[in-house]
Amino acid sequence: MAMRQRLMGLSDSPDLDVSLLLCHCLEKPRSYLYSWPESELAPEQEKHFRHLVDRRIAGEPIAHILGERDFWSLPLAVSPLTLIPRPDTECLVERALGILAEQVNPKILDLGTGTGAIALALASERSDADILASDFSSDVVALAERNRDTLGLSNVRLVCSSWFDSIPVQRFNLIVSNPPYIDPDDPHLSEGDVRFEPSSALVAAEGGMADLRSIIGAAPDYLIAGGELLLEHGYSQGEQVRTALIERGFSNVASQADYGGNERMTWGAWLT
Ligand code: GLN
Repeated sequence: MAMRQRLMGLSDSPDLDVSLLLCHCLEKPRSYLYSWPESELAPEQEKHFRHLVDRRIAGEPIAHILGERDFWSLPLAVSPLTLIPRPDTECLVERALGILAEQVNPKILDLGTGTGAIALALASERSDADILASDFSSDVVALAERNRDTLGLSNVRLVCSSWFDSIPVQRFNLIVSNPPYIDPDDPHLSEGDVRFEPSSALVAAEGGMADLRSIIGAAPDYLIAGGELLLEHGYSQGEQVRTALIERGFSNVASQADYGGNERMTWGAWLT
């Protein structure tokens, strides 16, 4: 179809993009396209569809056009105020669930939650967990609260805080975060979806390490003995994050790759 041709070379997944935009205009699930391949768009729907394809051709992320992105099988409302949840961050959720497997009623903190993706995914798997999620922007906190309420995951509370600044001192079993970690000079910032995401969610000083270092510095005051800190980071930052954790006094420090085989997350335990 012509729309698909128009997206070739501009998107990594022109077929998927066209299907998603078409279903959005039809207000139908994707299975509808296979069940009713012959059906045609009404003139108004076609106009709407062309407009959405034009937005995609201009580079706008699919998640922003649809206003939604699935993460850990949860449909999450997204907005240009936050990072669009990435499949690679699901690896962080899997690791967090592994860390918590033996613990009952764990207390979890998700710093810089954005859409609420990590906190809500953990809440959906662990109804016994008590989860606090923070973001520095009150508008983003409102978006995460909306996602929580839509999904009915009442064991997540939201708080407006820049990292630990406004988190009342308390002890968590696990602190998890996907902070901004991209070097301000990284050329990828001018390509693809990230052009439409807020730099506050992507970019950090000190070659992308500033927020990771600040979280590592303060986390021990908020961890129980044996509690863990689990961080997402850039594919080339594993060694720097491990060093920062070890220098701060964390034990059992280790890293793991994402679905693309890139070292993407590192964790450590606070044993003292
Ligand atoms: N993983 C994202 C990217 O590569 C960045 C996420 C972040 O900075 N926390 O675009």
